[in-house]
Amino acid sequence: MTVVLVVNSGSSSLKYQLIEMADETVLASGLIERIGEPMGMVTHRRGEDKIAREVEVPDHDVAFEAMLRNFKDFGPAMADAPPAAVGHRIVQGGRRFFGPTLVDDAVEQDIEELIPLAPLHNGANLAGLRSARRVFDGIPHIAVFDTAFHTTMSDAASYYALDREVAAKYRVRKYGAHGTSHKYVSEAAAKHLERPYDELRTVVLHIGNGASACAVDRGKSIETSMGMTPLEGLVMGTRTGDIDPAVLFHLHRKGGYSVDELDVLLNRQSGLLGLTGTNDVRDVTARAAAGDAQAELGLEVYVHRLRHYVGAYLVALSGADVIAWCGGVGENSAEVRKRTLAGMEWLGIELDAQRNEARGDGIREISTDASRVRVLVVPTDEEIEIARQTLDATGISAD
Ligand code: AMP
Repeated sequence: MTVVLVVNSGSSSLKYQLIEMADETVLASGLIERIGEPMGMVTHRRGEDKIAREVEVPDHDVAFEAMLRNFKDFGPAMADAPPAAVGHRIVQGGRRFFGPTLVDDAVEQDIEELIPLAPLHNGANLAGLRSARRVFDGIPHIAVFDTAFHTTMSDAASYYALDREVAAKYRVRKYGAHGTSHKYVSEAAAKHLERPYDELRTVVLHIGNGASACAVDRGKSIETSMGMTPLEGLVMGTRTGDIDPAVLFHLHRKGGYSVDELDVLLNRQSGLLGLTGTNDVRDVTARAAAGDAQAELGLEVYVHRLRHYVGAYLVALSGADVIAWCGGVGENSAEVRKRTLAGMEWLGIELDAQRNEARGDGIREISTDASRVRVLVVPTDEEIEIARQTLDATGISAD
């Protein structure tokens, strides 16, 4: 039995999954939240059983100890399911990492040097990576980068029209994000349709609290909506997505906003939250249905941007075979899917109203039988994708 431990370390949280790779069964998973706060929260799931307890978790080292204690107390015991490798989610791989990478001290150093490009994420990813290497010191650790899938984008798609010396000096370009999910979902869609991955043109719409679109051309990302950072592109739960950069000059000059205040405003106080007062699409659609004009406008702005990117990516791909929805909103909001793809019959995109409304767990098709473009809901699974890439990179067999 080959087991992989997948670690997703954020600034205040640590998520983990222990996966048995032969049939990709999750043996246990857990979440350690509120790292660095006075009291942390630890949850651990094994099958139907779930435990939750409050524990002090001042830093990532202690978070890993809490994870190990969970395995010891609630199973499976590490001795019964020892991980053959650890896969780490790392947000920013810049132009240095093009695929899953075996971590050594030099790789750690490179990830550290990329922190300025993803200040909210890479530092936290690295803290988890360092703790994990201390705890599991005899096995390979593989870094799986969110940006790696997008390294196939052309320069034309990734350069900003910025002074090129400034851009080069500060490594400013589009790197994209959510790559692990875009890859998993586009591959799963091809498998579901029993079509070769390297023949399909797919628009993936990963719409959760963070959201991005990706044009996948025969297995390769050629365009994605997130930019140098995950702020660009679609309207998100709390992020503006695309905005005229001169708005920032205006707010600074006229409103006295500092750079840090603008960062908070655009990343945390905008998007659906800024437009409607809530970042939860369930609330926004319910309020819009009840006639709330503010919620209706928020939803319209949200959908307007989505349609903009769907149109752009259909052109980038010279037509698509598949549109695949994933993420908390993409997988669950029939209303957002319906509004986004409305009136696209002329493009060969026809949603089936009943299929779109029906709920379900696995991959499901929501287009009509006559629709030239197949529209699917594909629940994303970044952890499985990280585990697969981890195993690939180590060369260890799954069974
Ligand atoms: P994620 O970041 O992928 O976990 O997505 C979280 C977001 O999904 C939440 O903030 C909600 O806006 C949205 N969401 C979750 N469940 C539903 C649902 N049943 N209907 C509409 N939106 C949902």
